[in-house]
Amino acid sequence: MAEVTPLMKQYLDTKRRHPDAILFFRVGDFYEMFYEDAVTASKILQIALTSRDKSKENSVPLCGIPYHAASGYIAKLIKAGLAVAVCEQVEDPALAKGLVKREVVRIITPGTLIEPELLSPKENNYVAAVAWDFASPLEKAKSLGLAYLDLSTGDFRIASADGWSEIESELSKIDPREVILPASLEGKEAPLFFRRWPIRYTAPALFIPERTEALLKSHFQIHSVAALGGDRPALLAAGALLGHVQETQKTALGNILSLRPHASGEQMRLHPLAQRHLELVPTSREGAPGTLLHLLDRTVTAMGGRLLREWILRPLLSPAKIIERQEAVASFYDDLLLRTRLRNLLEKISDLERLIGRISLKAAHPRDLVALKESIALLPEIHKALSSATAPLLEETLRSWDNLDEAYRLIESAIVPEPPLSIKEGGVIREGYLPQLDELRRFQKEGRAMLTQVELQERRRTGIESLKVRYNQVFGYYIEVSESQLKKIPPDYVRKQTLTRAERFTTDELRRIEEKLTGAEEAIRAMEESAFEEIRHDLSLMAGRVQSMAKKVALLDLTAALAEVAHQNNYVCPTVNEGRTIRIVEGRHPVLEQLRARERFVPNDTLLDPPSQRLLILTGPNMAGKSTYMRQVALIVLMAQMGSFVPAREATIGVVDQIFTRVGAQDALSEGMSTFMVEMTEMAQILRHATPRSLILLDEIGRGTSTFDGMSIAWAIAEHAHSDRLGARTLFATHYHELTQLAGANEGIRNYHVSVREWNDEIIFLRRMVEGGADKSYGIQVARLAGLPAEIIHRAKAVLKQLEENAWQPALSPPAQPDLFAAPPAPASPAAETSPIVERLRKIDPMNLTPLQALQILAELAEEARRDGKKG
Ligand code: ADP
Ligand code: MG
Repeated sequence: MAEVTPLMKQYLDTKRRHPDAILFFRVGDFYEMFYEDAVTASKILQIALTSRDKSKENSVPLCGIPYHAASGYIAKLIKAGLAVAVCEQVEDPALAKGLVKREVVRIITPGTLIEPELLSPKENNYVAAVAWDFASPLEKAKSLGLAYLDLSTGDFRIASADGWSEIESELSKIDPREVILPASLEGKEAPLFFRRWPIRYTAPALFIPERTEALLKSHFQIHSVAALGGDRPALLAAGALLGHVQETQKTALGNILSLRPHASGEQMRLHPLAQRHLELVPTSREGAPGTLLHLLDRTVTAMGGRLLREWILRPLLSPAKIIERQEAVASFYDDLLLRTRLRNLLEKISDLERLIGRISLKAAHPRDLVALKESIALLPEIHKALSSATAPLLEETLRSWDNLDEAYRLIESAIVPEPPLSIKEGGVIREGYLPQLDELRRFQKEGRAMLTQVELQERRRTGIESLKVRYNQVFGYYIEVSESQLKKIPPDYVRKQTLTRAERFTTDELRRIEEKLTGAEEAIRAMEESAFEEIRHDLSLMAGRVQSMAKKVALLDLTAALAEVAHQNNYVCPTVNEGRTIRIVEGRHPVLEQLRARERFVPNDTLLDPPSQRLLILTGPNMAGKSTYMRQVALIVLMAQMGSFVPAREATIGVVDQIFTRVGAQDALSEGMSTFMVEMTEMAQILRHATPRSLILLDEIGRGTSTFDGMSIAWAIAEHAHSDRLGARTLFATHYHELTQLAGANEGIRNYHVSVREWNDEIIFLRRMVEGGADKSYGIQVARLAGLPAEIIHRAKAVLKQLEENAWQPALSPPAQPDLFAAPPAPASPAAETSPIVERLRKIDPMNLTPLQALQILAELAEEARRDGKKG
């Protein structure tokens, strides 16, 4: 490295400051990448890797892309999870003395995108930060803070947590593109779940408390961070995040206007597993039909689509708030005309949040401004359409309505209706907006007219009819004369360029006009650019107002969309209250009933009514519909609490504080635990966090171990879930039909089974949930349905017969106060050989004993029992 060119030295200096990003180094019309960056990028972008100065040894690997095609290449690198630092030439190469000055103007990371072509409209693009007392060991961390931000929409929030599971739960909901952590933690054992999201380690300085506090204070213009709400770790995370985003954007973050603390007490808690098992939102970025989100998404704006996702993942707890939403949905449900008119208007509204975001971050193009104007133009019409709405939520929306007139007028008066893509192309600012600009343009026009004059005049003077005055980028204005006419040119023509069949000239007069014209053009461009920036700035001052209208549009869109789904799929408005009863008449699984278009979905009733009916044991053969039924109940509860109508004929939902699911036994192997271990870990979590207000779905627990182990564990868990110590509303599906005996011994446990009909040794699934336990498991018939060979089915039947002769007899009566953690109860004595003590007790007639006799007998029995105990 003895001889480094000045350019390479500049490159290396810049690269040193951005080691974690691919550096796009602007050289002329290209972005160049060198060294490791070039190797990495050329592979991902599938472009040629060459080298600088091939003749030498240790030559530098190099690849490059044309600047005008950059966005496509950047998209690919971001998709691959990389960050890109864009380094521009920040002075005019023509004027630079020596090496052109270059600066990184923006760092693009997956979590800080604002380009519409890199974002999906109906999804937020969050970057998150987690903070705790970094000095203490990770597993000891108690007080944790989370902050997350969608730069493209300005959505910035914080949440606090007492443990990692809450952090995991929040992260699962927001599904961040990146989580930032201080680099000092790199290499340390991070909680397992962090692997699900890309981590970007940042300078530890970003997480220094004094610094984060100062940053928050100056950004939000407040005297004390207490004004923001939230506790220390959450604010630390928020400050670090703000610092990180400022560093990537290199501009003021004008669209980040508030920091909202999460009111976790107002939301149903959804364990990440429940979120996955109930298939609420797609788990991969590809998007999947078959999720509740996909089913319910009839929104027509990006803002409504994003809000839907939030409503699904954050159902409410307060019946009053839920009813508020229901009433809004109901008013669109009842009025088809209103719903249609509103949705037709909303459809034409662009993504106001992201538009104002780009405007505030100085990234908006002229066409973005026009899109904003056209959307704003619809606001008064929407307001008018809704004027008769009476639902409180809609009335409230209308009361604080803002037509954003100033923004409309500004754009309308300043920007032409159909501007070019870029301000650089010119012709963006409307006539009449800036008198000086109009004057320059008039002058330019006159100049052009003078050129026509020159053409006519020169034709007359030279007698060359084909003489033309023209313009090109390289040579400017010229007079063109074809080869055959060259002898006619006057002596004052100065040769500019020679072509094969013609020559190009200029004259003093032409040169004078040209100077004027190019001067005017320069001045016009500068004036348009500065006017555009000023307009953009003025609009950014209205960011708060635009954002608040965006929220209203989202609410209208979403409630109307929910009405639309309810109408099309025949849903009903549920009664939601503080009670603990869940009563569903003819409930259906919302997603499955749509997927099974041809085969009719069989509706089923549900009654959970604590304390008398709080745990339902569901039995029935495999494939009967147990899992479907349980999920259907959970989905109906969840839909009710998000404010939606539900797939049922009638429903009453006593609000649920948390939904837990333990479903299936096949996942999570990737995390290196055995299936059974995973199952039991999850079970422990559920039992620890559930409350009497929770809804628990347990599907085939105990499957991962031996039959008797599994059955015993399932038995004990069912007892515990039902007992007064937990008493949660529970649905318990099991293929161990022995568990149906639990119902006999416990007041609140009821048996249900999915009915099947046996016909000629075959089974027909009726999909009907009926009271009572299933008598057998029909496993062999199901196996036959699945196509197992006849001789195997035959043999299986024989084996089954033998096994059934030694059937398992479980302990029928559990201890009066089931206690999972006490010593196991002594096994009940086998009925066949009753103990002599019992034998003696049977013969006693208590009514005919004196107290003294009774005492005597009791003493003898006690003595005998002690002797028995020693023997055993
Ligand atoms: P199990 O858990 O009892 O093994 P599932 O709930 O997985 O059974 O259901 C098996 C299949 O039966 C489902 O994939 C679905 O196609 C169908 N099914 C379940 N419930 C119904 C229903 N109520 N109506 C119609 N088809 C159903
Ligand atoms: Mg099942």
